[in-house]
Amino acid sequence: MRYTCYYCQKGTETGHSITLYRDNGVEDRFEVLCNSCYSDWLLSLKG
Ligand SMILES: [Zn+2]
Repeated sequence: MRYTCYYCQKGTETGHSITLYRDNGVEDRFEVLCNSCYSDWLLSLKG
């Protein structure tokens, strides 16, 4: 199965699912990221 990355819109074989939160901290939805975008996302979590 192939996924489409939520950030770069490219197809990726390895999908990393993430949970997006609204401003009030409530779970909003799940998205799938490719490897490089997932790395960026992890970094952004750490600030
Ligand atoms: Zn990506």
